Amino acid sequence: MKGRHPMIDTALYPGTFDPITLGHVDIMKRAKRIFSNLIVAVADNPEKHPLFSVQERIEIIKEATREMDGITVSSFSELTARYAKSINALVIIRGLRAVSDFEFEFQMALMNRKIEPTVETVFLMPNEKYSYLSSSLIKDIARRGGDISCFVPDIVKEKLAQRYSK
Ligand code: ADP
Repeated sequence: MKGRHPMIDTALYPGTFDPITLGHVDIMKRAKRIFSNLIVAVADNPEKHPLFSVQERIEIIKEATREMDGITVSSFSELTARYAKSINALVIIRGLRAVSDFEFEFQMALMNRKIEPTVETVFLMPNEKYSYLSSSLIKDIARRGGDISCFVPDIVKEKLAQRYSK
C-alpha cells in the first residue's frame, strides 16, 4: 500500500504459552486481520518453571496454528522489545482479558517503549468467552481430570493428558 511503512506488516506476539489456549488463538486471529505476518514467540523464562519445554511449546503452537497463514513460531530469551526490533517487528501484540491484566501490561508496555522507542504495544481483547481463560487454570483443571476440550486446541488436550497420566 502506498505510503505504508513496510515493516508495519510484521507484529510480534510474545508469551509463555504454557500451553497455548483458545484465548491465545483468538488473539492471533485478530492480530492476523491487521498484520500480514505474525511472529508468535515463546519466551524462554525458566524462572516461571513451565510445564512444557520451549521446544515442546513451539511444536504445540505450530500444530495448533497449522491452518492459519502468515504465522511463524520462534523463541527468544532477550528483552522482548529488543527481540521485536531485531526481527523488524514494530508492534508487540498483547491480549487484555480484564482490568486485572491492565496494571502489569501497562507497566510492561511503558518499559518496552523505554527500551525501544520505535516499538509500539497493541492490545487486543479476546471474545468474552475466553476472557476468563489462562494457561495455569487449564493446567489445574487437566491435572485434576476435568474436561478442557472447549478451552484448548486438540493437540493441547492430548499433550496435557499424556503429561498428567505419568
Ligand atoms: P506471559 O507470561 O507473557 O503473560 P501468557 O502465555 O500467559 O504469557 O500470555 C501471553 C499473552 O496472551 C498476554 O498478553 C496475555 O494477556 C494474553 N492472554 C493469555 N490468555 C489469554 C486469553 N484467554 N485471552 C486473551 N489473551 C490472553
